[in-house]
Amino acid sequence: MKRESHLPRVLKHYVNGGWTTSATTGVSVNPSDLDEPVGEYARADARMVDAAVDSASAAWRDWSRASAARRARALDAIGSELHARRAELGCLLAREQGKTLPDAIDEVIHAGQVFRVFAEEAAHQPGEPLGVVAVITPWSFPLAIPAAKIAAALRAGNCVVFKPAELVSGCAWALADIIDRSGLPAGVFNLVLGSGRVAGARLVANEMIRAVSFSGSTTTGTSVLRASAARQMEVHLDTGGHSALIVLNDANLSTAVDVAIQSAYGLNGQRHAAASKLIVEQGIQHAFTDALLARLSALCIDHALKKGTDIGPVSNDSQLQRNLDASAMAIKEGATLIHGGRAIERETRGYFMEPTLLLGGPEMQIARDDIFGPVAVVLAADDYYHALDLANQTASGLPAPCTGICTTSLKHARHFRRHSHGNRVTVNRPTTAAIGSGAEFRPRSTTLR
Ligand code: NAD
Repeated sequence: MKRESHLPRVLKHYVNGGWTTSATTGVSVNPSDLDEPVGEYARADARMVDAAVDSASAAWRDWSRASAARRARALDAIGSELHARRAELGCLLAREQGKTLPDAIDEVIHAGQVFRVFAEEAAHQPGEPLGVVAVITPWSFPLAIPAAKIAAALRAGNCVVFKPAELVSGCAWALADIIDRSGLPAGVFNLVLGSGRVAGARLVANEMIRAVSFSGSTTTGTSVLRASAARQMEVHLDTGGHSALIVLNDANLSTAVDVAIQSAYGLNGQRHAAASKLIVEQGIQHAFTDALLARLSALCIDHALKKGTDIGPVSNDSQLQRNLDASAMAIKEGATLIHGGRAIERETRGYFMEPTLLLGGPEMQIARDDIFGPVAVVLAADDYYHALDLANQTASGLPAPCTGICTTSLKHARHFRRHSHGNRVTVNRPTTAAIGSGAEFRPRSTTLR
């Protein structure tokens, strides 16, 4: 297995065009092999965060007036280097986050494309700068999510302070290292590594921040929103969600199973559009669950860098525990376990878990929670209208990130498009992209003017 790494001994913050460290450090580990540390990183205190915001603030005047061509050149250089180093960076991403190598390489390619798309946009639609933008991101897409937020902000002439999730500090450092070579003036882009509680909270509280671009859990997003509201600051939030896939009696069974596998278990279900509710019309329920079970049993769960691995480990211990607790709670509430529900051992010590399928009811916790793992529940529906109702029920009352339907009925597909409450709707296609495909990725709705 390929284990090359070009990380320095200690990963530092990037502030005002230079690398700087802190007294305290943390270590990210490989979720496929807990005996393999990936990167030791500095953990910022409030003063370090303030220094980063000061440097961004000082750089803003000139950067906001920089020519579109200059912005485009820098963004294009970042995109090109990401693309050129996709194999090596994909390996780092797989080691630190746990995606399989093909999925990780896809993510790097996507991140490169995002920078290039914004380079194009910088030339044609430069946008209006706001000032210093805080970019705060989760561990699920360590390069793709930061790429979209950082590129959107820089394109419009904003300066950035980037605070990634601690678990993926190595990927964040690698991105900052590339940005360092892109020709951006000192202070335009800054990276602070460290905890959400200290570094993230301080960043949002700093009065020189003009906008926050955040992806993460609904709980953290709500606290970011609260802190921002006090200063009427612009906020872009992408938080948790609970997506659903409907399978009707008239669906093509093999298509429905393919779509369900990708929607519920692709990337270990660690994406906000993962369908953890599989709403199945009664006439096809047995055939569908039997076929899904056969596919789940054949999936290879192993080290993310091993050839032939379909699904790597869960990214971290608390997510693994959350997945196991969710399925244990469902069983306690009366759900039937069809597959999985337990952690598994492999050659290396890692957070491996069997993809889990349960048969349950809409009143159960599992049908209401945002699990963010390879755990799905089958809910039986009497007919299409019942299925639609179940799909539209979300615990928060907010629309699901995506709802999908598998059917050969044009009438139902059309009705579903109009009446589904999901932010996105898919027909006979995964609520997420295919495993190993970057197709779903597009620059997100995080564009800062
Ligand atoms: P999280 O909310 O714990 O952390 C996200 C980021 O916020 C991290 O960088 C963290 O350090 C920081 N943070 C934590 N507390 C903070 C605070 N008080 N102030 C400021 N920043 C703080 O989320 P996570 O565990 O990293 O990621 C998983 C979650 O992200 C899931 O709930 C998932 O649904 C969500 N997610 C949403 C999207 C989307 O596009 N909607 C995409 C990926 C992940």
